[in-house]
Amino acid sequence: MFPVPTSLSPSRVSAFTDCPMAFRFSSIERLPEPGSVHTVKGTLVHRVLELLFQHPSAERTPQRAAELFPQAWDEVRTSDEFVRIGLAAPQADALAAEGRTLVDRYFTVEDPTTIEPVGLELMLEAPLGGITLRGIIDRLERAPDGTLVVTDYKTGRSPSPSQEQKRLAGVHFYAWLVQQAMGERPSSVRLVYVADRKVIATAPTEQSLSFLPKRTAAVFSAIEKACTTGQFRTSPGPLCNYCAFRQWCPEFGGDPDKAAAEAPVVYALPQSPA
Ligand code: SF4
Repeated sequence: MFPVPTSLSPSRVSAFTDCPMAFRFSSIERLPEPGSVHTVKGTLVHRVLELLFQHPSAERTPQRAAELFPQAWDEVRTSDEFVRIGLAAPQADALAAEGRTLVDRYFTVEDPTTIEPVGLELMLEAPLGGITLRGIIDRLERAPDGTLVVTDYKTGRSPSPSQEQKRLAGVHFYAWLVQQAMGERPSSVRLVYVADRKVIATAPTEQSLSFLPKRTAAVFSAIEKACTTGQFRTSPGPLCNYCAFRQWCPEFGGDPDKAAAEAPVVYALPQSPA
């Protein structure tokens, strides 16, 4: 009834496990989702850090980051992602200011002059059964002991201690991809929460990585079944408050079969001068 996807990313796997119906709308029917200030801010900070790490280690200073900021901001404010959120000039200025604050704060979390990156915004993929698993790693680096370390920047709030393990569960996916693509198991996967100046990390083991293909294959099998039967379960919960598809969700009286016809083709909001 629906085409079965041929590739999966960690975020798509999470999206299906969070709510199969929302996954249908976003990943199968590919309905457009409005952007958010938060995701644009994240893109901005990621880009500044990517540019920073392209420089020799001694040059990765707060001053150099400040010099690189305008380039990143120009790229972001002319992107479709930014246009979709349709900010007026004062809100755009506020977003840029928050981005600058986050970049400054980054330097209090780690010292980039001591880091030896081997890949930035690195796209990795590996076959698993009949599908391709894909992921983009913010930064892959060599630790002083010669092992590989995966680092993922986060610009949102850090999880509470009771939620940390759940957040870290997904990042084993990245470690597995590195192992498949480069033949080396990373010694650590780190989530760097810039806003909260906090790093949480996990050390992938052979056992934790061997579990991942089994779990992903099980999720893919459930996706395949949902696509062929057309039955995508709803999973009402806190995520419904942020769901872009509520109007077509049966939990809210909507008809999912009308979504493809009724959803806007693009969110063509006017770009504000910034
Ligand atoms: S509103 Fe809730 S249950 Fe419905 S699709 Fe969105 S997340 Fe799923």
